Amino acid sequence: MTTRDDELKQIADQLRDELKEADRELEQLDEQVRDFGETSELAEGADNHPGDDSDRLTEQQRLLTIRSQLAERKDYIVHALNKLEDDSFGACERCGNSIPFGRLEALPFARYCVECQEIMDQDGAAVS
Ligand SMILES: [Zn+2]
Repeated sequence: MTTRDDELKQIADQLRDELKEADRELEQLDEQVRDFGETSELAEGADNHPGDDSDRLTEQQRLLTIRSQLAERKDYIVHALNKLEDDSFGACERCGNSIPFGRLEALPFARYCVECQEIMDQDGAAVS
């Protein structure tokens, strides 16, 4: 039989793995962005191709977008791990109810129960 403690421990392991993975991916991306910057500088002197420039900008933009998404994801993971430390993990941050294990398993860094998430999503949609 699985207790909630066992379930949370399982999710904690999953989160630590995800954090490691996110760190690794961030490192790789930073490297790509850095290489990219160097290549741009090298090309700058002899550049008569405006087309290439915009391609480069698009590519750089793409890398930075991925990077910020990844950084955001990492924030969520760190946030969830902090909640594990202070025993508030698994409780919805809005209504305080327990988030069902199935939801946590699918989305270990979920901060809200399904009902609250829907309300938050609707609020967000109304603002934008
Ligand atoms: Zn809730």
